[in-house]
Amino acid sequence: MNVVFHQDFYDVYVSDPAAEPGRMEAIVEAIREDSTFISPDQADLADILLAHDKDHVESVKKYGLYPIAALAAGGAIKTAELALKEPCFGLIRPPGHHASAGSAWGFCYFNNMAIALLSLHHRKMIKSAFVLDFDMHYGDGTVNILENHSFVNIYNPESRFRDRYMKDVREKMERVSVDMIGISAGFDNHSEDWGGVLLTEDFFDMGVMVKKAAERSGGHYFALLEGGYNHKVIGKNAQALITGMEK
Ligand SMILES: [Zn+2]
Repeated sequence: MNVVFHQDFYDVYVSDPAAEPGRMEAIVEAIREDSTFISPDQADLADILLAHDKDHVESVKKYGLYPIAALAAGGAIKTAELALKEPCFGLIRPPGHHASAGSAWGFCYFNNMAIALLSLHHRKMIKSAFVLDFDMHYGDGTVNILENHSFVNIYNPESRFRDRYMKDVREKMERVSVDMIGISAGFDNHSEDWGGVLLTEDFFDMGVMVKKAAERSGGHYFALLEGGYNHKVIGKNAQALITGMEK
């Protein structure tokens, strides 16, 4: 699969778990053999401003995090653009789903998913979109930014029970019919990560569900990395999702 990635994502930009050394390396190691790596550029400020206030951009600059956050957002845009041709995975950080228009928390700065979808929609490359956010944390930033945009719907599955969780996602994806599906792919709900709910095979299954939904509706799909903090399992979990998206 095409994987959008930049060497700078290896850098430790702050001391939070999303920026910890070894995290990106673990994923690259697991998916290297079957991936074509494509390098992104920083997002244009105009694209970032589709989702964020100027004041928020200034505060990210003040903390010295603009270059890496804009590179992640640029990676998200590139991932979504490439997905118009074939499925794509954005191996990016910092993550984005806790970033709202004027504020951010939870290791996030710019909302990569919102910026990518708003950019494509702004350029009339998509008419409708759906976000499946299976990170263990509710993607409040994505909801805050996109809830007033009628072209997109967002789903955060919430059950703490694995069977129910997977049933909910399956039933939801069977009803999705849009031009573009974006997966906010946080792997922190894995049984050996913070959330402790899902197994590796569940990420594979969700990849297949998204692929089927896209095929049924004549649409496209991509995934962006969000959370996931156990370096021992994040690689195989990302690989499982990617393999499902290709299946
Ligand atoms: Zn999370």
